[in-house]
Amino acid sequence: MMTRQVELVERLKGYDPNADEDLLNRAYAFSMKVHGSQTRLSGDPFFSHPLEVAFLLVDLRLDCYSIVTALLHDTVEDTLATFEEIQDLFGPEIAKLVDGVTKISLLALQSEKTQQAENFCKLVLAMSTDIRVLLVKLADRLHNMRTLHFIPSPEKRWRIARETMDIYVPLSERMGMQSYKDELEDLAFAQLNPEARDSVLSRLKFLHETTENPVGQIMAELKNAIETADIKATISGREKTPCSIWVKMQSKNIAFEQLSDIMAFRIAVDSVKQCYQVLGTIHSSYSVVPGRFKDFISTPKSNGYQSIHTTVIGPLNHRIEIQIRTHEMHRIAELGVAAHWQYKQGESHDGRQYAWLRGLLEIMEQASGPEEFLEHTKLEMFQDQVFCFTPKGDLISLPRGATPIDFAYAVHSAVGDHTVLVKINGRQMPLRTVLQNGDQVEIITSKTQSPSPTWERFVITGKARSRIRRFIRTQQRQQFLELGRSILQKGFSNDPMALSEKNLHETAKRLNHNSIDDLYVAVGEGLQTVRDVMRAAYPEQVKAVPDFPKEKQAKEKQDSRDTAIPIKKLIEGMAVHYAGCCHPLPGDKITGIVTTGKGVTIHTQDCEVLDIFSESERIIELAWEDELNLQNCYAGRLKITFLNKPGSLASVSTTMSQQGANIANIKVTNRTIDFWDVLMDIEVKDVNHLKNVIASLRALSIINSVERI
Ligand code: MN
Repeated sequence: MMTRQVELVERLKGYDPNADEDLLNRAYAFSMKVHGSQTRLSGDPFFSHPLEVAFLLVDLRLDCYSIVTALLHDTVEDTLATFEEIQDLFGPEIAKLVDGVTKISLLALQSEKTQQAENFCKLVLAMSTDIRVLLVKLADRLHNMRTLHFIPSPEKRWRIARETMDIYVPLSERMGMQSYKDELEDLAFAQLNPEARDSVLSRLKFLHETTENPVGQIMAELKNAIETADIKATISGREKTPCSIWVKMQSKNIAFEQLSDIMAFRIAVDSVKQCYQVLGTIHSSYSVVPGRFKDFISTPKSNGYQSIHTTVIGPLNHRIEIQIRTHEMHRIAELGVAAHWQYKQGESHDGRQYAWLRGLLEIMEQASGPEEFLEHTKLEMFQDQVFCFTPKGDLISLPRGATPIDFAYAVHSAVGDHTVLVKINGRQMPLRTVLQNGDQVEIITSKTQSPSPTWERFVITGKARSRIRRFIRTQQRQQFLELGRSILQKGFSNDPMALSEKNLHETAKRLNHNSIDDLYVAVGEGLQTVRDVMRAAYPEQVKAVPDFPKEKQAKEKQDSRDTAIPIKKLIEGMAVHYAGCCHPLPGDKITGIVTTGKGVTIHTQDCEVLDIFSESERIIELAWEDELNLQNCYAGRLKITFLNKPGSLASVSTTMSQQGANIANIKVTNRTIDFWDVLMDIEVKDVNHLKNVIASLRALSIINSVERI
């Protein structure tokens, strides 16, 4: 008697005489050895499962590597065997295929709780860089579904059936594998809705009892009609599957009795020309049901499916659907992508690697228009999307190039708003990291965190961008409001009464503002000056309001502590900006210039820009708050010249870190054989902190000069 092992080898060699028999035998022995005494719930040895999967793929006439992968597909996940071991014993290509199948299986486990089947399908496709991975996985699922009834736990059976219905049925349909689709669907349906399936089956039984073998009778009549036209054809007939009948009953909300076309017939012929001849014969013999005719031969479906569909009132007055196609179209319709991957004699081994891709390309060439073409590229790979998991296993679909901030906003806007840091696959990563397929993304949030204007530079989703912008706008208004209030308080310091709510309200109205807040914002934004407000506040003295006397300003400079506007609450980058020319630090004496629509730009008091700035009413005195929050959040710029020798740059940066200063940016402006000139932006607490950094740098022997810019 032939053993299963011999049978497998014989059948493979039957269609691929050059198959690597030794490789197949080694895989068989290895898989049997590592699965050892493991058993399935059916009581069979576990090894029977990979073996059956291998036979399913032999039925599809797949290549030797696919069969070997089938034998090994559960070894890495379920036994002590490792990826490295598979690689050593069977080579990198097999190892890659086994790894692919294992990864998809693990994904399935991870996503147990998710309902996002559509995304999941795309993820599986995106991860199957080799179509054989997907074919092995589908055969694996088919065998597991055939043996599903051995699993005792109803919940587990239900879960597997649900996953099959949601993911593997649409996948096999997408790949054009009708026979896999029908069987998987029926097995899952039996599990998910046994009552519905039973009721459809009993109605079908009733139909058989009332009409003696309707399918057979109709087939005989059709055969007659076609033979009269002298065409050689293969006719097959079947009832539609219980699941598709049930879906139709539900979607059209009709009872079984009203459902007339439960029988489908298929006529296969040799040539396309004969397809249309058969169509003519059928249409002249029976009445056509309008609106049901579809010609997928001249316009193939996106998965490559070709056939003519029509519905007629056929023999016995039954409404029947008829599909007409060539034998070759039929083979492709049943096997889909697998048909393109089947072993064909005479093909060189090199090219076979890409055979499935070529198969898809062939389909594409037959496709009729750009939409069809797009459909195919979608089927091939979802290049424009990435799929990532939350720590709970929920799947989030994002456009390619998305970052953790996009991810956070996709989860929930509150998560996005409060993002502090991110862990990708367990490791802390920068927020600007571009996410990859299958990444597990954990967002760490804090109630005190709020969206940063810098995020806007790297997010790519509309949702994230609009949330960040909206936040900045609200925040900015608040900042302008605070600033405007401070400016007015200072401007009216001689007449605090003018700032009473009643007076302000009147003033705001005269300046066409709806509220006092709007007035503050306008002043903070620089749209209105203190003088504008004064004129509105004392309309009767319009002429009397003098320009800011220059002397008064100069006087203020001397005791700015008392009259200056505190900027403590203001956030850099919103209502206030630090000037790029002088890099002011806490401790420096500072002055602000109100810029229309932008708020205040802060300069050091000795900055040259102030000397050339003439509009005195836009200049305001500012002061740092005494109580500074001691974080390194101010950037000071240093120009450093040091010896060009190994370790110099390291000494500079070590000294800075010893002083607790953070390097924000480095620019090499000049490098000669003996010296480096660099510009460094370093983050410090205040001006004293920076002075300390400069002093300790100057103490280094390699330093030629350090200057603050
Ligand atoms: Mn398996």
